[in-house]
Amino acid sequence: MVHSLYSNREIFLRELISNASDAIDKLRFEAISHPEFLTQDPHPSIRIGVNDKEMTITVSDDGIGMTREEAIAQLGTIAKSGTKEFFAHLTGDQQKDAKLIGQFGVGFYSSFIVSDKVTVISRKAGTKPEDAVLWESTGEGDFTVENTTREHFGTDVILHIKKDDQDLVSKYRLREILTHYSDHISTPILMGKEEFKDDKVVDTGEWEAVNQGNALWARPKSEITEEQYKEFYHHVSHDPSDPLCWTHNRVEGKNEYIQLLYIPSTAPFDLWDRENVHGVKLYVKRVFIMDDASKLMPRYLRFVRGVIDSEDLPLNVSREILQQTRDLKAIRDGSTKRVLSMLEDLAANRAADYDKFWTLFGSVLKEGMGEDHANAERLQKLFRFISTASDGKPTTTLDGYLARKKTGQNDIYYVTGDTPETAAKSPLLEVFKKKDVEVLLMGGPIDEWLMQFMFEYEGKKFVNIAKGDLDLGELADKKEKEEKEKLQTEYKPLIDKFKEALGDSVKDVRMTLRLTDSPSCIVNDANALNPAFVRMMKMAGQDVPESKPILELNPNNPLVARLREKDAFNNDWAKILLEQAQLMEGEQLADPAGFVQRMNQMLIDTMEKKTIN
Ligand code: ADP
Repeated sequence: MVHSLYSNREIFLRELISNASDAIDKLRFEAISHPEFLTQDPHPSIRIGVNDKEMTITVSDDGIGMTREEAIAQLGTIAKSGTKEFFAHLTGDQQKDAKLIGQFGVGFYSSFIVSDKVTVISRKAGTKPEDAVLWESTGEGDFTVENTTREHFGTDVILHIKKDDQDLVSKYRLREILTHYSDHISTPILMGKEEFKDDKVVDTGEWEAVNQGNALWARPKSEITEEQYKEFYHHVSHDPSDPLCWTHNRVEGKNEYIQLLYIPSTAPFDLWDRENVHGVKLYVKRVFIMDDASKLMPRYLRFVRGVIDSEDLPLNVSREILQQTRDLKAIRDGSTKRVLSMLEDLAANRAADYDKFWTLFGSVLKEGMGEDHANAERLQKLFRFISTASDGKPTTTLDGYLARKKTGQNDIYYVTGDTPETAAKSPLLEVFKKKDVEVLLMGGPIDEWLMQFMFEYEGKKFVNIAKGDLDLGELADKKEKEEKEKLQTEYKPLIDKFKEALGDSVKDVRMTLRLTDSPSCIVNDANALNPAFVRMMKMAGQDVPESKPILELNPNNPLVARLREKDAFNNDWAKILLEQAQLMEGEQLADPAGFVQRMNQMLIDTMEKKTIN
C-alpha cells in the first residue's frame, strides 16, 4: 500500500527537512534565554548525507533535539497507532491520497515510503552527550529505544532505503529534489561537495549549501516565483495541495512587519476546533517565535496559513507578554484587513475559486459577524446565500439581492429551516412567489446563530418572514390590507370554532393572505424565538421557554372554504390543519399517534362515502 504513493515518494525529504528546520527554529528561540545552546554551533545547519554502500540517506540537524521520552511520545505514538492503518487507507489515487496525507500530516512517517528501517539519533539541547537516544523502527507498529551518545545537540534521521527505491541514494537526485522542495527554507541545507577529477566524480570532503538559505518572505516579491510561493505554502501548512491564493506585503509605519498569508484549497481536519488557531507562525526579525499565536488571527480566519515577521517586537518577548502587547493587536488588525481584501479580490476576479472558498470556509467566515463588529459590513459583502433566486446554490450576495429588490420593498426577507432545502418548502414563501420577491433561505445551526447578528445591511433590515403579522410594507397594496382586516370579521365564526377545537395548543388563529396554495401555516410572535433555533437548543439539552404558534388559514383554499359550510366543521379537521402546518415547518408533533388516527379516520370516511355513492 505504501507503494501507491510511489509517484509521490520524494515527499519524505520535504517532510524531514521541514522537521529539521522547525527544530532549528525552536533552538534559536530557546537560545534567546539560553545563549549557551548556540555556542557549539553558532550557525545551525541541516546536512544531507548519502552512503551508497550502506544504502542510507541521513538528514542531520543542529536543532533542539529530543529526549528519550520525547522520541517515544512524538515518534512512537504514530508508529503504534496510526501508520499501518493510515497506509491501509491510501487508495492509490494520487489526488485523494495527497488529501489524506495533508489531513493526517504523515510528516516523519513518510520516511517509510522509501525505507524499510529508520534510525533516529537525537540529543536534546541542554542535555549531556551520553543522554542521547537511539530510536529505531521498521514502520510496522513497533519501535525500540536505546541510550547512545551524540557529540552535539540535534538529530540524525537515518533512512535505510528499500531495494526498489535505491535510485534515490544519489547526491544528484537528492539535490534535484531539494532545490525543488526546499529552496525557501531559511536554514542552510548542506550536501557534500563533489568535483570532477580525471573524468570521475569525487568527494572533496567539504560541505556546500544547496539552497539560498534566506527566508522566502523577506525576499522582494519580484524575485519569488509562483512555484516558490506554492512550495513555501506546502512547508508552512503541511498541506500538499496548492493554495487558492496568497498575499505578501511589507507593512511600514509605526509597526513594521512582513506578512505572507495563504488561503488553502482544502479544509484542514481540525477546522471545527475553534481553539485551534495555529495556522500563522510568528517570527521576529527572521527568528521563529511561535506557531500557536492565537492573537495573530481572529478565530473566524483560523483557516489562514502563513507567516508574520515583525521588525519591532522584542526578540526575548515571552508568550505571556506577547499575548498582551498592543503592537500585536495592530499586526492582527492589519492582517485581518489584508485577508479580507484578498478575499474581496478573489470574489471580484476569480468567481469560481471564490465559490470553492465559500464551500470550504463560508461557515467559518460567518462566525466573524459575532466576533468582529468593526469589519461586519465587509464580511456581509463576502457572504453568499441560497435564496429563492439562486437555484439551490449559495451564490446570492446581499448586493445582488438589493439590486433585484422590488419597488416598495423596504426589507431583506429571510426564512429559516433545518436546512435551506426545507426552508425552500415553507408555505410562508407562497405570497413572496406570487409577488416575485426574493427570500434568503437559511438553514442549520450556524445560520440560526448568524441571523442574531444580522440586523441590517446598507440600511435595510433583515426580516424573518415566519415572525409576527407579516407587514409587506409598500409591497402590500392598500386594498390587500383592507381585505385582510375584513376577512377577520367575516371569518370570525370559523376562527372561533378553530380556537375552541385547538384549545391551548395555539396562541391565536387568524386569516391570512400570505398563502396561495396551502390551507394553513404557523407563524410566531414577533418576539418569539425561531422554531428551528428552539429545536436546536432542545436537541442540545437546553431548556427553552415554550412559545405557542399562531395558526393562519388561507381563505382561498377549498378545504378552508368547505369548513365554513353548514355542519361541515369537524374538530379533527381543525387539528389536522394545524398538524400539517407544523410538519411543513419541520416540527415534531405533540401527538403523532393521534395525527395518524385522525388521518385514517378521514380516509375511512372518504371511502365509505365513495361506496355509498
Ligand atoms: P509534525 O512535524 O507534523 O508535528 P512529524 O510526524 O513530522 O509531525 O513529527 C512529530 C514530532 O516529532 C514533531 O512535532 C517534533 O516534535 C518531533 N520531531 C520530528 N523530527 C524532529 C527533529 N528533526 N528534531 C526534533 N524534533 C523532531
